[in-house]
Amino acid sequence: MKSSDTTVLVIGGSGFLGLQWVLQLLDAGYSVRTTVRALAKKGKVLQALQSAGANVSRLEFFEADLTSDKNWYTAVSGCRYVLHVASPFPADNPQDENELIVPARDGAQRVLKAAKEANVERVVMTSSFAAIGYSEPDKTHVFSEVDWTDENAPIPAYIKSKTVAEKAAWNFVRTQGNGLELSVINPVGIFGPVMGDNYSASVATVIKGIVDGKITESPDFTFGVVDVRDVADLHLKAMVHPDAAGERFLATSDGVMSFADVADLIRKERPQFASEINIQHKTEDSFYISMDNQKAKNWFDWKPIAKESAILASVDSLYGKA
Ligand code: NAP
Repeated sequence: MKSSDTTVLVIGGSGFLGLQWVLQLLDAGYSVRTTVRALAKKGKVLQALQSAGANVSRLEFFEADLTSDKNWYTAVSGCRYVLHVASPFPADNPQDENELIVPARDGAQRVLKAAKEANVERVVMTSSFAAIGYSEPDKTHVFSEVDWTDENAPIPAYIKSKTVAEKAAWNFVRTQGNGLELSVINPVGIFGPVMGDNYSASVATVIKGIVDGKITESPDFTFGVVDVRDVADLHLKAMVHPDAAGERFLATSDGVMSFADVADLIRKERPQFASEINIQHKTEDSFYISMDNQKAKNWFDWKPIAKESAILASVDSLYGKA
């Protein structure tokens, strides 16, 4: 079947990652639909895509909110694949964890139910390292797809929302899916180029926080880094790989970074920002977490962009190259 005969729905095409999916799907020749919470966002999405050189003639918009049953069946109907990226991702922890958990979990259930009813072949869902690596006390542990965060542990609302939503999604396809296929991608911190002003809490917190001098301390943890282009590419690979149904894939480049490492990299490679950066180097205090990205690499011949390049691509797209 030609790509143009295959319709793919992106749930949440207005976000940092969602825009990148839409761009890559259009470039690959698919007929693409995207949902946005409000059609008023359409202009901004089109502008970001057109600035990136996309041909938007094969793109359709549907209005749908994760918190409402409205329009899901209409949006999904006629699609072979559904890519579910939308989930609340605020920079700050809300007072009530259900502000994140309910839309993340119930929204994914709405998507899966509509996909099953419309005979969609496969849903690819964006979960997170949040659902893998937040309740393992052994600091020598190497995290991979076999690990799960314990949602009953004392964890921040966002981490819990991703864990609960992914578990509920797997449970749905197991118990009610009726043959609907699910693949899940679990990215670490996503960086890389932003399209317009559509960037997420990861870029806002780490890159803007450091370059604008708002962050003065390097927390004592490290995080994995992955480029948004590689995360989108991995979703598209999982969408069509015959054996990827029923599998989760950890999406991370090699190695991890602390906030201080990011600050040092930007000072060295983009010295024009050095005077604004307020973080002093404290790497000796950071715990360097370990992750195994062999599964995605081996299954898909996936060659993620180096973490340093992903960070600098965010900086350059936000602030311009010198
Ligand atoms: P983002 O730019 O904030 O995108 C979030 C998307 O979800 C937006 O399109 C947003 O729509 C949509 N959304 C939120 N609440 C919604 C609701 N109630 N109904 C419909 N849509 C809703 O963040 P992102 O980085 O692209 O995140 C995309 C996905 O990747 C999320 O599932 C996130 O958990 C996951 N993830 C992100 C990272 C990271 O470091 N960025 C790491 C791991 C996993 P609006 O534009 O209308 O707000």
